[in-house]
Amino acid sequence: MDKTSVRCEIADCGEPATHKIAAHWNDARFSELKTYGFACPEHVEEVCHKAEIRWLDYEPVAGERVGAISIYRYEVGKSDREFMRDREMEQSFLTCPPPS
Ligand SMILES: [Zn+2]
Repeated sequence: MDKTSVRCEIADCGEPATHKIAAHWNDARFSELKTYGFACPEHVEEVCHKAEIRWLDYEPVAGERVGAISIYRYEVGKSDREFMRDREMEQSFLTCPPPS
């Protein structure tokens, strides 16, 4: 097994992650993709659900901004900026409202 590959975060799963659940985050100086979880195809729904709970719970401090949760197709060796969003999965699994 390749130690550098990312695994699904569901306990007892251990399959390679194919999707990354993340939201854009920025403050006055930095912006990044804030990771909420990694999932294999089987567990995207479950990981999304947990991510949304944490997302809804999060209180940005002054100057911080957190975008809506998105589902990205995760590929080893690619950087955050290169990930493609998986719109089909987002429509199926995301329940958080899009940012206004
Ligand atoms: Zn899994």
